[in-house]
Amino acid sequence: MEILKGAASSNKVAHAFVFAGPDGIGKKLVARAFAEALNCSSGSDDACGACSDCSMMESSVHPNLIEVFPVDKDGEKDPDGLIRIGQIREVQNALRYRVERGMKTVIVDGAHRFVPAAAHAFLKTLEEPPPGSLIILVTSKASELMPTIASRCQRLNFRPLPEEVIKGFLIERKGLTPNEAGAVARLSGGSISKAAAFTDDGSLQKRRDVIQRLSSIGPGDTAEALKFAEELSKMDGLDELLEFMKSWYRDRIVASEGSPHLIANNDMERHLKDAGVGEFNRLCSAFWAIEEARKAIAPPRYGNKQLTLEVLILKVSGAHFM
Ligand SMILES: [Zn+2]
Repeated sequence: MEILKGAASSNKVAHAFVFAGPDGIGKKLVARAFAEALNCSSGSDDACGACSDCSMMESSVHPNLIEVFPVDKDGEKDPDGLIRIGQIREVQNALRYRVERGMKTVIVDGAHRFVPAAAHAFLKTLEEPPPGSLIILVTSKASELMPTIASRCQRLNFRPLPEEVIKGFLIERKGLTPNEAGAVARLSGGSISKAAAFTDDGSLQKRRDVIQRLSSIGPGDTAEALKFAEELSKMDGLDELLEFMKSWYRDRIVASEGSPHLIANNDMERHLKDAGVGEFNRLCSAFWAIEEARKAIAPPRYGNKQLTLEVLILKVSGAHFM
């Protein structure tokens, strides 16, 4: 924040930034907080959060806040969509008018998703930024930015949050036990929004249920395996559940290799003990079978969910008690 404030107040330093770093660690929050601080009418250095400018900023209706994000072909917000030339023309129109006070702040989310024509148009804006304007490009894939765009911006790297920070947040704000919080923090990959999602939609409990169910299927128990596969194929958030299953096998591999401090699901240690030490090769092949199944049913392959999961569960539950 200090770098940003210095840059904005000095009038001669960069007026365009790239905020680079993994998804869900607060890059956009910082960008918006910055826009708010620059436009707050309270006269203090930080946004007061109470004036009309701040509240207009918070509800995204402030005339000095210009937000751009990838859209699908119908113009709906879509992280896998593209930033198109029409959107850039709108930005350029909005920047044409001088600001009365504060600073026009353009926040481009998913900045690696420009179509080439839009990128070329945007380059002109970056080359001659209108006075009183600030441009922030937010991206999780800075290496995919057009070099001509990246070279005109000052880059700030956002690191994943330390596990301890996320753990503290989950204990204090979400009421998780330290063991649960530790597990979710490890699974979140340094992303507070991902960590919050894990706890908000009950996926923590769902994860336990799935692992318990999987563990209860004995080798040769074909009927039960097929039943579980069918249930699994109808569950919401299947991709995430398969990731959980992978992390479960990863934990068992880690435990069997005598490195228990690397266990991610440390709220499930008892289950892990019950599952016993497995044979290394079998555990690894189960891990990769899950990853393979996950890819097979995800876009762009869209394989048959139930069929894929039936094959997977038969394979994995056979491996389970080896
Ligand atoms: Zn304010």
